[in-house]
Amino acid sequence: MNSARKRRLVFFLAGLLIGRIVNAEEVDVLFTTGNIYTVNDRQPHAEAVATKNGRIVFVGSNDDAKKFHAAKIVDLRGRTVVPGFTDSHCHIFGIGEREMRLNLEGTNSREDFLARVRERVEKTGPGKWITGRGWIETFWKPPQFPARQDLDKIAPNNPVFLTRADGHASIVNSAALKIAGIDKNTPDPFGGQILKTNGEPNGMLLDNAQDLVAKNIPKPADSEREEALLRGIDRELKLGWCEIQNAGSYKEDIDIIRKAFETGKIKIRFVNAVYGPGGDAQNFLRDGSTINAFDHHFTQRTIKVLFDGALGSRGAALLKPYSDAADTSGFLREKPEQLRPMFEEALRRGIQVETHAIGDRANRLILDLYEQAFKAVTPDERKIHDPRWRIEHAQIVDPGDIPRFAKLGLIPSMQPSHAISDLFFAPARLGMDRLVGAYAWQSFIKSGCIIAGGSDAPVERGEPMIEFYAAVGRKPLPEHGLPVRVPSKDSGQDVRWARRPEAHVPPQTEGWHPEQAVSREDALKMFTIWPAYAAFEEKDKGSIEVGKLADFTVLSQDIMKIPEMEILETQNQMTVIGGEIIYSR
Ligand SMILES: [Zn+2]
Repeated sequence: MNSARKRRLVFFLAGLLIGRIVNAEEVDVLFTTGNIYTVNDRQPHAEAVATKNGRIVFVGSNDDAKKFHAAKIVDLRGRTVVPGFTDSHCHIFGIGEREMRLNLEGTNSREDFLARVRERVEKTGPGKWITGRGWIETFWKPPQFPARQDLDKIAPNNPVFLTRADGHASIVNSAALKIAGIDKNTPDPFGGQILKTNGEPNGMLLDNAQDLVAKNIPKPADSEREEALLRGIDRELKLGWCEIQNAGSYKEDIDIIRKAFETGKIKIRFVNAVYGPGGDAQNFLRDGSTINAFDHHFTQRTIKVLFDGALGSRGAALLKPYSDAADTSGFLREKPEQLRPMFEEALRRGIQVETHAIGDRANRLILDLYEQAFKAVTPDERKIHDPRWRIEHAQIVDPGDIPRFAKLGLIPSMQPSHAISDLFFAPARLGMDRLVGAYAWQSFIKSGCIIAGGSDAPVERGEPMIEFYAAVGRKPLPEHGLPVRVPSKDSGQDVRWARRPEAHVPPQTEGWHPEQAVSREDALKMFTIWPAYAAFEEKDKGSIEVGKLADFTVLSQDIMKIPEMEILETQNQMTVIGGEIIYSR
């Protein structure tokens, strides 16, 4: 090689090197070799993502990603990545409390349920309250509510208050009834029922009647509430939820949430709703919303209304009586005349409204009320033109009312797991005809709606893979049993599904309407981009796109391709929020 050629080569190499340094963009984290589902139609799949200052700056191939200088490189080893999962409807304090209190989930029989209570009574001093949650009698033989006398036998000296999994009913013992001053002459409160046998209260309290007893239970200290919040959030992050939309809170809890953010204790994205009508909602309407506080981690712009009860306890307000209880068609928990002025004020102030409506009567009435408010407050009188109001659950809807959602620009916020739990007893409660508009995901999507997907935990277990499986499978969980977690040998953590030995579940699935199941693509949207839209966040969240916040969930298996049953065995492997790995296993 002559000297001129040598010089040229040196210049060429130096040029390459300098070019490389100049062109190489600095990024914070580079995630490579992933099987990335972006939920972005223009670029549905990718291998690599780069993040900087908490946002996505690159989505593309491994080759194209080589141009980056990254402070940290994460090799995804081919694992599946989806936009950070959002639970559009959960109760975060309840999730934490479920971990802290007597957890009655998975009690297969009345005996099993009573044994767990007895165990707790033995550890509790006389006179102290025993509270718990999670029982569901529909799996017992016979599937009947427990009675106060059952509890009196095992807890003669302690008031007992045990809430059904759905939160819409509780069983209490005689000591608790006595403290609350409930006897055969106590009238039903508005929006609730004191169930009676031979004219005497039998211990079952539905919906608002629960408060008659609950208000006598000593309130947990703020420190306990905070512990519940943080334990709940910790659980959510482990499961792969990057954002939770908390379906209702009172002032005390809002203060606890804010304080926890201020002291840096919360890393999950948190969208909060305030219960209304009432003083808290009035204050909220006056003070206005909080948007993207704590570096895009906390938003509060929604009022949550509880309009009826639930199907399991026959509190859902139906247009016609229950098929298995001709004397009741459920009840409303709020009076329409109290909602009207609040709804109109909310429109003027740019506050979103989300209303729990389970029965077809509750759904029709809330559609009417929303429609009246939209007419009363015209778009130019509103702070936000398109208010994106939501109906939580939209569970049993008269088929004629389904198109009204899209027409009014409303978002049904639905929980797939409710269908696969409720469909064991819904045919009895509703009869076959009314199931046509029940859990009707596909009908809503076809009518032009998006669906904000959630779990309603602690009503349900609150796991993304159960919800995803329920949405695409719309079938019972394995072996017609309920999920039972068994410890894995290596980690000691719950990981697998097993048949619950004594689960008594009727094998028939008549009336389940499999045609209402959704595609995997839509199921993925239900827990990513659609919840983002339902919270006015689609510009920042819900897909893996340049410019959006770097939130991802990394999964052990490709949930878009594996056989349905394997979805349930898929684990969250990494929870990434703002480019930071918050959890990894
Ligand atoms: Zn709920």
